[in-house]
Amino acid sequence: MARYTGPVCRLCRRERVKLYLKGVKCDTPKCPLEKRPFPPGQHGRNRGRETQYLLQLREKQKARRYYGVLERQFRRVYEEAARTRGITGETLLKLLETRLDNVVYRAGLALSRPQARQLVRHRHFEVDGRVVDIPSYRVRPGQVVRVREGYRDLFPFIQAVKLTERRGVPSWLDVDKEAMTVRVISEPRREEIDAPVQEGLIVELYSK
Ligand code: SF4
Repeated sequence: MARYTGPVCRLCRRERVKLYLKGVKCDTPKCPLEKRPFPPGQHGRNRGRETQYLLQLREKQKARRYYGVLERQFRRVYEEAARTRGITGETLLKLLETRLDNVVYRAGLALSRPQARQLVRHRHFEVDGRVVDIPSYRVRPGQVVRVREGYRDLFPFIQAVKLTERRGVPSWLDVDKEAMTVRVISEPRREEIDAPVQEGLIVELYSK
């Protein structure tokens, strides 16, 4: 299962927005985007004209990086969204939002999506009583995600529960942090997804 393993703060700087890929560091003054809020590289500050194509491309890259999805998988999710009845851009975001690693992150059981992904890969979660170690597993309304018995005292969980107290939980999730259990109440609506993404631009890009 491939994933991006390069430096992540560069990605935020490239997209000029916080993607929250580092956990604790993201909310501190040590965040490189606070110090250098321009794209990385020699010509980072003097990039050329922003064409419509560039805007669309950047929006797609931003969404990919925000959810930690590589190009081919992102394209597959888009194609599924395009086949589904409804507004393609919104469906795309819903499909990304209901990934298991994202649900773990949104519920405050991990400090970042990359950490959530790792915890899932390490078989720390069960869905409806069955172990699931696939970060892209799609969680559906009514399902219950739980940290497995015996793993609840692990430092990453204790730290995440403590440090994510201030971070709100979306209304489509019902979280019991003591029991480290998350119940999916419903599918997320667009207004419940706070991803800094203009999904319409992604649809325009892929519809060419
Ligand atoms: Fe992005 Fe977090 Fe790095 Fe800041 S610290 S640039 S928000 S990954």
